[in-house]
Amino acid sequence: MSHHLDILIIGAGISGQLAAREFRNAGREVTLLDKSRPGLESSWAGGGILLPIYPWRQATAISELAIQSLKLYPQLSAELLAKTGIDPEWRECGMLICKNPDFEAAERWCRRYDVVFQTAFAEQTSTLTTQFEQPIWLPGIAQARNPRLLKSLSAYLSQLDTEFISDTEIEEIDIVDRRVTGVKTKHGQYSVNELVVSTGAWTREFLNNLLPDWPADIDIQPVRGQMLLFDAKPETLHYMVLDGDQYLIPRRDGKILVGSTVEQAGFDKTTTEQAREQLYRFATQLLPILKNFPVSHHWAGLRPGSPQGIPFIGQHPDIENLYINAGHFRNGLVMGPAAAQLLADLVLQRPTSIDPTPYSLNRPTAS
Ligand SMILES: Cc1cc2nc3c(=O)[nH]c(=O)nc-3n(C[C@H](O)[C@H](O)[C@H](O)COP(=O)(O)OP(=O)(O)OC[C@H]3O[C@@H](n4cnc5c(N)ncnc54)[C@H](O)[C@@H]3O)c2cc1C
Repeated sequence: MSHHLDILIIGAGISGQLAAREFRNAGREVTLLDKSRPGLESSWAGGGILLPIYPWRQATAISELAIQSLKLYPQLSAELLAKTGIDPEWRECGMLICKNPDFEAAERWCRRYDVVFQTAFAEQTSTLTTQFEQPIWLPGIAQARNPRLLKSLSAYLSQLDTEFISDTEIEEIDIVDRRVTGVKTKHGQYSVNELVVSTGAWTREFLNNLLPDWPADIDIQPVRGQMLLFDAKPETLHYMVLDGDQYLIPRRDGKILVGSTVEQAGFDKTTTEQAREQLYRFATQLLPILKNFPVSHHWAGLRPGSPQGIPFIGQHPDIENLYINAGHFRNGLVMGPAAAQLLADLVLQRPTSIDPTPYSLNRPTAS
């Protein structure tokens, strides 16, 4: 028997769930389908820094989504906490960036996007052991606690009568006259009005396997990232620290995350002793007091890597009612709310507040 669905979103990470919220708020019916359970992949594994790493070195398309999201997060997290009682722990703890050889570019970027910046204070630099180079302090930069943000978002979507179909994969997608008419899973057939693919690192494989006759050049590759968690005390560190390509993120309860590796390992999510040692050495050299605390967790996640880290957001080039929101690489949390808004604007044919061109599936492939 075939059930009818309005909007079906494949992939219930941050990208799929935030899109679902946009559609529900616009009065549409939404179903989220995931091969596992919601929010347990990259979105769970990430650090939750709500700033791209050195955004001034990255494409403008990343800053555009990130800056719009930064404005949306306070209300989003307050709404989630109020409705669900689960605190996503969004908080403006600030970020200290230890080395800025391109300080002028950083300054220009901060001024352009109205991001408050200061030179770092002596009390901040004196507790850390590293070679500082024009350190910069960004007091307004916030973090969110990934597992709680996702849990809260799922609970909120359930309250909004969003249906979750977990542990299920799509077996077939039916296309008639360049439109998706339905999908088949082990549970049966569903007809759909719109299909959104937000399968993170698996997006390229998903599209190639299910739509071999409709090739789309979506270059998304898994990029493994490993993290460590120290069971530290709340007074150990009060703000995020970025030193080179690695960072410390203090959570409200005192635990400190250390991240992260950037590895090409296919879809292999296993952790390695080498990464553990490297992250441990980085963290304890930078903040020696961490040697007093145990490492309680070590994990890995698969980032959806894309050319220049710019996500693909928009309509499939050949299939009218098939949309993609994937490939957010290192910035899926920080770009999430604005990316979801852009996707919803495109699907619902509303005016967009951000130019969609750089995220289009038809954009030229980066060399
Ligand atoms: C170590 C690490 C640190 C990070 N730190 C940060 C940070 O500080 N700030 C930041 O903004 N970003 C960070 N990121 C990046 C961020 O986590 C990702 O960009 C973001 O989570 C991507 O979200 P997503 O929903 O697109 O993908 P995912 O969270 O991976 O979700 C994809 C979903 O699709 C499902 N799926 C896949 N294939 C199928 C299928 N065939 N059928 C059904 N379902 C399927 C999966 O089960 C999964 O639930 C980090 C990532 C890692 C790994």
